[in-house]
Amino acid sequence: MKVRTRFAPSPTGRMHLGNLWIAFLNWLWTKQRGGTTVLRMEDIDKDRCRKEFEEGILEDLSWMGLTFDEMPGKEHPYGSLIQSERYGFYGDILSSMEKKGDLYPCYCSRSRIHKILSAPHEGEEVPVYDGHCRSLTAEERGAMTKKPCLRVRMEEGDVTFHDLFYGDETRHLSAGKDDFVIRRADGLVAYQLAVSADDGAMGMTHVFRGCDLLPSTAYQVWLIGKLGYKAPTYGHLPLLVDEKGVRLSKRQHGITIRELREKGYTPEDLIGLLLHWAGALKDIRPVSLKEAETVPFERMSGLKEKHIRVL
Ligand code: GLU
Ligand code: ZN
Repeated sequence: MKVRTRFAPSPTGRMHLGNLWIAFLNWLWTKQRGGTTVLRMEDIDKDRCRKEFEEGILEDLSWMGLTFDEMPGKEHPYGSLIQSERYGFYGDILSSMEKKGDLYPCYCSRSRIHKILSAPHEGEEVPVYDGHCRSLTAEERGAMTKKPCLRVRMEEGDVTFHDLFYGDETRHLSAGKDDFVIRRADGLVAYQLAVSADDGAMGMTHVFRGCDLLPSTAYQVWLIGKLGYKAPTYGHLPLLVDEKGVRLSKRQHGITIRELREKGYTPEDLIGLLLHWAGALKDIRPVSLKEAETVPFERMSGLKEKHIRVL
C-alpha cells in the first residue's frame, strides 16, 4: 500500500520551528516509504487565518526544499486542499448526518461552548458536555430564540486506534458527555469535522502531528468511521518546548523560519537541528534533505518523549 500523509498547518502566523518539526517529520517518513505527501491549508477559522500567512508557509516550505505531491494550486482528485474552499463538502456531510438524526441543536451559552473551531492544543481542554440539549422536545426547541450550534449524538462505546509511538489506544466515549460540537452557531464548521472528513476523504493512511492533539483522536477516529472512511494510523510527535516547558508558538520570538533565514541559517542548518532534537544526530551540523532521507526513524530516540526542550 502506498502511504499518504498530510501536513495540515493553520495559517495563523509565520511558520516557526515547531511547525517545521511536524512538516519535516511528515515529509521524511513519507519520502522514505515512497509515499505521497499532501499539503492541506486548515483555514476554517476565518478570524485567525490570513492569506499572507498561507503564502508565508508556502514560501518557507519551498525554501526548505520540502515538496508536496498534492498541494493548493496543483492538480489532485479531492477538490481543493484549502479548507475554506471545502464548505460544500462539509455542508453535505452535515445535512446527511442531520437527516439520519446523528446531530442535534444545542442552545447552551457561549461560556459553556468554547474552543471548538480550532484544534485544541496543549493546555486547552477538549470540551466536555453535559448532554443538556440532547433530548429537548420539538416544542422546547421551537421556543428557543438563540441560534444553536450542532452537536454529534455520540454513541456510547470504546474507540480503539493505533499510534506508532503510543501503541494501541482505547478511549471510552460517552453519550452526552462526548457530544462534541460539529458546527458553530455562526455556521462555521468545527475543526473536528473538517479534519476528520478530509483525512477520511483524502485517503490519509498515516497522520503525524503534535501529541497535544492525542485527546482529539478518538473523536476523529469515530467520526471518520461514521462517515464511511477508513481511519489512518497515527503518529503523535513530541512537542518542542522552551525552557519554561511552553510549546513553541507565536509567543517565543526569533523562531520563525523567515527570521532564522534572515539571520543566515540555511535549510541544511535547520535540518541538522531537527535531527539533533529527534535524537538522530549527536553533534549539530548541516544536513541535506538527501542525507536526512537515509536516517531511519528507529534512530530517532527523541521521538519517544512527550516534550523536547529546544530553547
Ligand atoms: N491545523 C491543525 C493545527 O495547526 C493541525 C490539525 C492536525 O494535524 O490534525 O493545529
Ligand atoms: Zn446545549
